[in-house]
Formats: sequence, structure tokens, C-alpha cells
Amino acid sequence: MRPISKGPIPTDTSGNEINFHKYQDARGKLIERLGEICSYCEMHLDSSLAVEHVIPKKPESSGETIQERELDWHNFLLACPNCNSTKGNKDVVPDDYFWPDKDNTFRAFNYSEGGIITPSTELSAELQGKANATIELTGLDKRPL
Ligand SMILES: [Zn+2]
Repeated sequence: MRPISKGPIPTDTSGNEINFHKYQDARGKLIERLGEICSYCEMHLDSSLAVEHVIPKKPESSGETIQERELDWHNFLLACPNCNSTKGNKDVVPDDYFWPDKDNTFRAFNYSEGGIITPSTELSAELQGKANATIELTGLDKRPL
């Protein structure tokens, strides 16, 4: 999970911030900024890459779609079908995890041969817990890169 930078909300040709009417409309801009790469596992793929909501648009605890989250650029990443379905609609408290657009995820994890990802041993016990939670949330331990 390499650190990424999505940049500010994209603007239209007049320089106004784009209001996305559907989250799917942000996909092209996300790919322009991030490449055709899953933000979590770094798998390269094109057609099946989805707009991922960091905080679920429809968290499982309520089951209701929260529109501000659904259409918020700051809540978007790109995800492959594996990461997307593993993460699902689990309720997420952002501070409990590392995020590739907010944290230095190079330092948070060790990447060993065969694509095995483990929490960096340089981290404090607390941060190792956070790294482990991130690996479990996205299923990064389930398959090699
Ligand atoms: Zn992925």
C-alpha cells in the first residue's frame, strides 16, 4: 500500500469545483490522478476498478446511504474487486487505520518476498495494532501482490 496523493477536488473548464452527481462520475478523475491501480493492494487493472468509499456510503450499522459521504471527493479512493468486497460496508473509524492518501504507508508496513505484508517492526505496539487492523480491513493478508 504505497502512499498516494489525490490532490484537491477536481475543477471543470471554468475552474469551479466539480459537484459529482454520482460517485461513479469521479472514476475518470481518480484514474487520471492515481493511475489504474488499486489504492490498497496496488493491483493494476482497468475495467473492474471501482470508486471506493473510505468511510462506507452505506455503513452496515445503519444501512442508510449517507449522500455527503457518497459524493465526497475526500472520501474516494480506487479499489479492486477483492479489496472492495473485503472492506465492504464495515463501519470504519478512520483514525483506527492507516490510509494511503493520509499516512506514510511505506513506513507502516513491511513488504517481504512473495508479497507478504506485515506491520513494520519499527512501529510502536499501538501503531502495529493499527497496521494489523488495516491489513485485516482490506484483506491484504489474503493474497500476494
Ligand atoms: Zn486491491
